[in-house]
Amino acid sequence: MTTISKGSSRTTPCPRCGHEAWPIAYGMVPPSVQEENPRVVYAGCVMSEEWRPDPATGEPRYGTPEWECQKSGCRHRWW
Ligand SMILES: [Zn+2]
Repeated sequence: MTTISKGSSRTTPCPRCGHEAWPIAYGMVPPSVQEENPRVVYAGCVMSEEWRPDPATGEPRYGTPEWECQKSGCRHRWW
């Protein structure tokens, strides 16, 4: 669960294409907080589990994405 506080929005480069990616916030976020943190993806209460191969072992690992690439056509999500 991501907790958003004022001024906490930060971005990171997408590992796939290098475009700017935004953190994904889950749960109910008041509109005032969203306005203060525009560079955040607000996913609401829908938690989606996705899997990826473990970088070390290749085993599938499940988790909740924390980042979403903002480039249209990429939209890579990872954690
Ligand atoms: Zn990307």
